[in-house]
Amino acid sequence: MTAVGQRSLHQAAVDQFQRAAALVDLKASYQEILAQPKNEIIVNFPVTLDDGSMKVFTGYRIQHNNILGPFKGGLRFHPDVDLDEVKALAAWMTFKTALVGIPFGGAKGGVTINPADYSKEEMQRIVRRFTHALGSNIGPDHDIPAPDVGTSSETMDWVMDTYANVSPPGFRHAVKGVVTGKSIEVGGSIGREEATGRGVLYSLRHWCGETGARLDDLKVAVQGFGNVGSHFALLAREAGCSIVAVADHTGTVGNVDGIDVDKLRVWANENGGVAGFPGATALTTEELFSQECDVMVPAALENQITAERAKVLKCKLLVEAANGPTTQEAEVVLADRGIEVVPDILANAGGVIVSYFEWLQNKSARAWSFEDVDDRLRDLVWKAHDGVVERRAELNCTRREAAYAVALDRIADVYDRRGIFP
Ligand code: NAD
Repeated sequence: MTAVGQRSLHQAAVDQFQRAAALVDLKASYQEILAQPKNEIIVNFPVTLDDGSMKVFTGYRIQHNNILGPFKGGLRFHPDVDLDEVKALAAWMTFKTALVGIPFGGAKGGVTINPADYSKEEMQRIVRRFTHALGSNIGPDHDIPAPDVGTSSETMDWVMDTYANVSPPGFRHAVKGVVTGKSIEVGGSIGREEATGRGVLYSLRHWCGETGARLDDLKVAVQGFGNVGSHFALLAREAGCSIVAVADHTGTVGNVDGIDVDKLRVWANENGGVAGFPGATALTTEELFSQECDVMVPAALENQITAERAKVLKCKLLVEAANGPTTQEAEVVLADRGIEVVPDILANAGGVIVSYFEWLQNKSARAWSFEDVDDRLRDLVWKAHDGVVERRAELNCTRREAAYAVALDRIADVYDRRGIFP
């Protein structure tokens, strides 16, 4: 979200890639292309609510770039969704898919809405009408949405079903891959639900390998306990980390001896959030950021790690599970303080990687085993980290700049070969 007087998130995303573009001497023409999305689709669509009244909603689909493959990126349902935010999120998808070497471009979409204000039936009508409004702007070989903040496999099942029902009868099964992140019964992939969290853990493991740190010595604080944060916290706990603090929109809880994440998950499901969890002490939001820990994992929304918070962080490592959690000012503070950052386009790429596997499974009408999915996920995350470490040594730059450098090299190479039409 861009509040009045705040810097544009999209401009921040452009500044990020342009710093790396300077390091790799990216052609000015390619920089100009990547500084704007290719297509900006805004739809205003009416939906009948349960009380018989009608409300018009605004939805977005921003298609940033498709030089490497079909547009790909999540759908966010949140009251703060606006054009600027979706443009930034779409750009990050282009760099993420290029970095991890999967044949997709970048896109993002969303609806400005608080899903908690609507019944399940209303949400289904909103999702179906939004899908209908997007029409042929999405498609299994053109633009493939997925879950993000405020959306889930249920949302994706409704999008797919709507898209299939308005497709010609002979194509209704062939279009399953129009979205990823579907429930397994409907054509989703084993392992997609927790894939982003799992990719975040593989990122942490890679850093441990680089630095000699051990997972079972690490104290970890997590902001966000939704799809990404909760799966990451569960997997990290299983791998031996001690989860010392967890925050969500209802509050923050901490326990220096480690939180029982399984119990916290049950509590959050039953009570709508982590606040009041009896196995931990209530903390303030600011106490989350000053918590004694080795690793801080923002897994909620953008701009959470501000310069002020960066000054009080006690961690050695920040792993960006969320997209865009660190402001530019904070990044300078983190660098000064020697706090390492695993950037979002690398840390949270597990979700889009397994989305790619789901899309492949839909195309071939096959279902892979968990081992197939997980081995391939680990390989791709590992390879991407190795590539970033290598490029970082060559360019003597930050991990974020190196990640962008790898992505930009791949995009530029394809533009060089394909040329600019006509
Ligand atoms: P989600 O809706 O499942 O969960 C969001 C979480 O953030 C919730 O626990 C919510 O309570 C919390 N939150 C919201 N506002 C907060 C605040 N002010 N303070 C603390 N917590 C707050 O969303 P998600 O899918 O887990 O996405 C989280 C982040 O990860 C987003 O940045 C998203 O773009 C990114 N991401 C998600 C995926 C995916 O596969 N779902 C993939 C890559 C990146």
